[in-house]
Amino acid sequence: MTIGRTVYLNGKFCPVEDATISPFDRGFLFAHAAYEVTSVYDGRFIDLEGHLSRLRRTLEGISIPNPYGDEKWAEIHSDLVDKNGMEEGTVYLEVTAGDYGLRDFAGPETFKPTVFVYTDARPLIGDLARDGIRAITLGDTRWKRRDMKTVQLLSQALAYRAARQEGAETAFMIEDGLVTEAASANAWIVDPDGKLITRELSHAILPGITRAGVVSLLKRERLEVIERAFTPEEAASAREVFTTSSGAIVAPVVAIDGKPVGDGKPGPVTRRIQRLYYEAMGADVAAVAPWALG
Ligand code: PLP
Repeated sequence: MTIGRTVYLNGKFCPVEDATISPFDRGFLFAHAAYEVTSVYDGRFIDLEGHLSRLRRTLEGISIPNPYGDEKWAEIHSDLVDKNGMEEGTVYLEVTAGDYGLRDFAGPETFKPTVFVYTDARPLIGDLARDGIRAITLGDTRWKRRDMKTVQLLSQALAYRAARQEGAETAFMIEDGLVTEAASANAWIVDPDGKLITRELSHAILPGITRAGVVSLLKRERLEVIERAFTPEEAASAREVFTTSSGAIVAPVVAIDGKPVGDGKPGPVTRRIQRLYYEAMGADVAAVAPWALG
């Protein structure tokens, strides 16, 4: 992870050490804020339109006016990536309900947002994509509107801490006996009959941009996806398990709660999906991910 030296704050590009915000900001006081994380590969954005359209929905849902149109957002993203010379990594953006010098739950009639954007250079196709990650399972303690991408991330932060304590890299969250999603990714399984399953969209999960990308690639390949919730037991006895997210793209899950998934190695369906997605990103798969070629 390398945070770019230049960030964007409220209309200006500035060195990261000069970027300061008020302690009365509603993002700080109430987690009243939306965010997005968009991947950049070979200097190109992966579905920035999808991220900006989800941002619009989240902002509308949490009563924050969208400070910019899509064109302006795209310009800020491109300028920041150029200024930091980033070829591969992610761009993080956050829009909070702003500061008005008071801690008042309801707040003013109209919010004046705080906008913060930074870059994080790192490989999107790295060792974890090659070797896989380990997951633990735990209860999903988040609020009920997980379809909105807000910075209320305490449940996920604690889930990651619990995972790390168990020697794992992620956590699958469980609600009413069903997996909702991973701590910061959508969850997928390949069942013992070879069927590909991921939870259907609803208020219970984030509509992942990577999930949507994988679903459309699979449609193009005429591969069936069953959109339904699955249990942690189904995940434990699945042939393959993987997650999708902008930060880790397609990550094989090779163990759950200390027990291997399948033979404990990334499986052929996961590899095929990695290959399809990397190709769609414009990656030279033979060069950067030969292990995905099977
Ligand atoms: N689900 C949750 C809870 C997330 O936090 C994320 C990403 O941060 C995702 C799913 C994956 O979404 P995307 O593919 O848009 O990155």
